[in-house]
Amino acid sequence: MIYTKIHTLEIELSSSCNAGCCVCPRYIQHNDGLYLNPHADLNQHLTADVIRDVVTGFPTANNLKVDLIGTVGDPLSNKNIVELVDTIVTHKPDCIMQIHTNGSLRNPKTFSQLAELMPYHGQRKIVFSFDGLEDTNHLYRKNVNWSRAIANAEAFISAGGNAMWKMVKFNHNKHQIQEAKKLALTLGFKRFQTSANQSPDNLIDRIIVNKENILTMHKRPPTLADGYEDDDPKELVDPGTIIEAQCEIGQYVHVRADGLVFPCCMVAGSMVDPTEWIRKDSMDLMQLPGDWNNLYKRSFSDIMYSKEWSAIKNNYDSDTPCYVCADNCAVDHDKANKAYHVR
Ligand code: SF4
Ligand code: SF4
Repeated sequence: MIYTKIHTLEIELSSSCNAGCCVCPRYIQHNDGLYLNPHADLNQHLTADVIRDVVTGFPTANNLKVDLIGTVGDPLSNKNIVELVDTIVTHKPDCIMQIHTNGSLRNPKTFSQLAELMPYHGQRKIVFSFDGLEDTNHLYRKNVNWSRAIANAEAFISAGGNAMWKMVKFNHNKHQIQEAKKLALTLGFKRFQTSANQSPDNLIDRIIVNKENILTMHKRPPTLADGYEDDDPKELVDPGTIIEAQCEIGQYVHVRADGLVFPCCMVAGSMVDPTEWIRKDSMDLMQLPGDWNNLYKRSFSDIMYSKEWSAIKNNYDSDTPCYVCADNCAVDHDKANKAYHVR
């Protein structure tokens, strides 16, 4: 068994999004284009029935942490977000909660309603990903309307919500950190946090030219005619690689917007990787295709007590773990943006 009591429940409420962030897994960047990722199901929204099943179907820690964050979508894309958050806090009144958003979806009324559902001594918050100010936020967060995002944040704050401003430092916005911090304090954000850019600087610098994002967004996947080919060479895992399994140590579970349950967002994300052998690596780990981890076919309880978890555990406990586990949870890996889900 991997799980006895869930500590962190990460839920992707929606796989839709209005923004065009170039390194988001919902897209494939190729040359000067940003294309839809054909391996991700980009228009799925979890329902209140599924959420109720998830939060009541398996033992959880008293201070359960619920992270509403997407791999390929923004939680505010789910038009039932208020009902879904209400369902979670009704069944888990002591839970810690974080909603991560680009801030520009829905309207001030929705954000006021969310604030009313989240008054928990700073234990619940919305993390607004604002990567700069009015003249820079959209350079990376393409399509995000600044005025709407600020209006939503203001509505959330004035209704008593605990808001955090999270800013990724890029070469094109790092001169604005102090100004952004000042604005955050003026608007009533409780926290302002910067984080390092995890993508190569030259990737972002190449697409932001003369204060403009030069990528053209295409509402379709890239094709051979665009010169696109999945030809990444296969990487091998060193025998003897030791895994520090965040799923088991952190009692961490990820629920994807299409209702599939995963041990972590890393495996869920690898399932939609543009590189075929990485997708296959994750499919094999998850023993898919199949329905064993599908919340629209089985209850969360049935899924969590399923025998398939043993094979996942045997894999990461073995001398030859799969690529996705080695890439994300090897004790000595040197990945820049190591995920950490152990509390
Ligand atoms: S806001 Fe989030 S989900 Fe939307 S494109 Fe950007 S990174 Fe992806
Ligand atoms: S990558 Fe593997 S070991 Fe790490 S959390 Fe996910 S399933 Fe567990």
